[in-house]
Amino acid sequence: PLPVLAVVGRPNVGKSTLVNRILGRREAVVEDRPGVTRDRVNYEAEWAGRRFKVMDTGGWEQDVLGLDAAVAAQAEFAMETADAVVFVVDSTVGATDTDEAVVKLLRRAGKPVVLCANKVDGPAAEADAAALWSLGLGEPHPVSALHGRGTGDMLDAALNAL
Ligand code: GDP
Ligand code: MG
Repeated sequence: PLPVLAVVGRPNVGKSTLVNRILGRREAVVEDRPGVTRDRVNYEAEWAGRRFKVMDTGGWEQDVLGLDAAVAAQAEFAMETADAVVFVVDSTVGATDTDEAVVKLLRRAGKPVVLCANKVDGPAAEADAAALWSLGLGEPHPVSALHGRGTGDMLDAALNAL
């Protein structure tokens, strides 16, 4: 079976945009409305000659009920079952309490994690990415999922972790 790379993070950080970028086509659901990806969705992908599965997940939130809680549980299941995790953070917002809570879950899951500092659309935003060293997950990889900036280097790191 192909190795699985799960893409996780709180709502609206750009997980699905990143998955589309990885796939090179518009397939994962992206909307301006937060939290639109409800379930884990698996896609077959290829990068640098390696085939793998990329799993888009819904936005993880803490202390939620009903559908949001089910979405969060699915995201937790993805963290626990994937071979490696791409943790997406919105570098224009910085590390939030929710991001810190995800870090705890990731530590518990014990899978290799690559920290994707998303929405670094230009060089001026690199400093925002560097601020995410504070999460304690190692090097933040500056990425613009929207424009493709940095996604190759981030994927190299993720595939190295598989
Ligand atoms: P998800 O909820 O984490 O899956 O986030 P989406 O992929 O649906 O994206 C949420 C919003 O962030 C959308 O309006 C995207 O266009 C926007 N977005 C995603 N990636 C980037 C990026 O690299 N730069 C900027 N400026 N916006 C982005
Ligand atoms: Mg999504």
